[in-house]
Amino acid sequence: ERTTDEWQRIDVEHHLHPFTDPRYFDKKAPLIVTRADGMHVWDSSGRQILDGMAGLWCVNVGYGRKELIEAANRQMSTLAYYNVFFQSATPPQIELSRLLAEVTPEGLDHIFFANSGSEANDTIIRMVRHFWEVQGQPDKHVFIGRKLGYHGSTVAATSLGGMQNMHAMGRSLLPGFEHIMHPHWYLEGGDMDPDEFGLKAARALEDKILELGADNVAAFIGEPIQGAGGVIDAPRTYWPEIERICRKYDVLLVVDEVICGFGRTGEWFGCQTYGVMPDLMPMAKGLSSGYLPIAAVAYNERVHKVLKDGGLFSHGYTYSGHPVACAVAIANIDLIRRDKLVERVRDDVGPYFHDRLKAAVGDHPLVGEVRGKGLLAGVQLVKDRDSRTLFDTADNVAMRVRDLCLERGLIMRAVGQSMVASPALIVKRAQIDEMADILADSLNAAAREFGM
Ligand code: PLP
Repeated sequence: ERTTDEWQRIDVEHHLHPFTDPRYFDKKAPLIVTRADGMHVWDSSGRQILDGMAGLWCVNVGYGRKELIEAANRQMSTLAYYNVFFQSATPPQIELSRLLAEVTPEGLDHIFFANSGSEANDTIIRMVRHFWEVQGQPDKHVFIGRKLGYHGSTVAATSLGGMQNMHAMGRSLLPGFEHIMHPHWYLEGGDMDPDEFGLKAARALEDKILELGADNVAAFIGEPIQGAGGVIDAPRTYWPEIERICRKYDVLLVVDEVICGFGRTGEWFGCQTYGVMPDLMPMAKGLSSGYLPIAAVAYNERVHKVLKDGGLFSHGYTYSGHPVACAVAIANIDLIRRDKLVERVRDDVGPYFHDRLKAAVGDHPLVGEVRGKGLLAGVQLVKDRDSRTLFDTADNVAMRVRDLCLERGLIMRAVGQSMVASPALIVKRAQIDEMADILADSLNAAAREFGM
């Protein structure tokens, strides 16, 4: 056992944290998380912290669930590993394929396994381009994503996403990827009503397809709610219009369910919340509640038939369909079903979460908007509510609010100028109250610091 100081010193010396400015640790030491149970994590000094993010939007069933732990133990001692390349298959991978066909929207009956959301999206890029090549349309290769979309951080997934800072680093925007505006009504909508703005934002897709020529466009990809972009939920008119445009120009529709999937928005999948039917759907995170790395792509009969005609699909990962990860995912889905967690989010804690957040911080001088669905929320921070003026990025207000929340025993995340939250689906009403109260208190403290 090491002391907290030792853990922190060694970590800073040897480990580069993903998506973290290493200079941050010149001023503040890393948080060393040593254990977790239910809704809480504990740090190396024994302090209990309420996890309002479910890890990284993933621990949907909460920490320490014995059903998942036992499933991993059982599978580890029976068959710790075998691959599913070539002619092989394993019972957990077969069973999970069947289960996923059952819980995903009707028609998405075919599954390919990967280990992360990024890999699932890389898979989709190759699969979709292959789909058009097999049909003699190799020019149909361009993917259209959205500004502030996030689909992972491999080179191809970075290109798919619309984070300009990520594109700029390491020449990471490949050719064949285009981006349109995001449906962020609060910041982009001006005087338009949300429904009118939703149609406008969707029609940017049609404009882009016409600009590129439909014969060059392979697919459109979007998250039902843009998570890492700041929990941006589109007006209700947006997704039906996107779907209409995709069908009109024969552009495949990919809905990225890596965050929204497995109950977070109050349906099994975010596309069901918005009434849209994808051709392909990447999933990760909530698929195993983060207990082990696993991801999947579900796709429909049309794609399946063409892939079959196409013959050899030269793509896969050593750990595609890893038996222990599949066993854990099966136990996770069983638990979500048994405890009716999706219904719980839709009918009970989801609406309570938004009501409570709005009541606690909706009128705060630092808050412009509280948005999201189910157990996914974004709180837009503003310098001036009336003119919807944002702070200077250098002010780092959201980062400050995040730190103030942590000091008060709550993990929330700062994304740009928004605070975001995605608690586990087991969250109790009293814990939602605690989250809302700590956030309000932290905003008050930040307002004082920023002289408001
Ligand atoms: N897609 C979405 C919508 C995500 O939010 C993420 C990660 O946050 C990814 C893909 C990438 O997943 P991973 O980090 O497992 O590669």
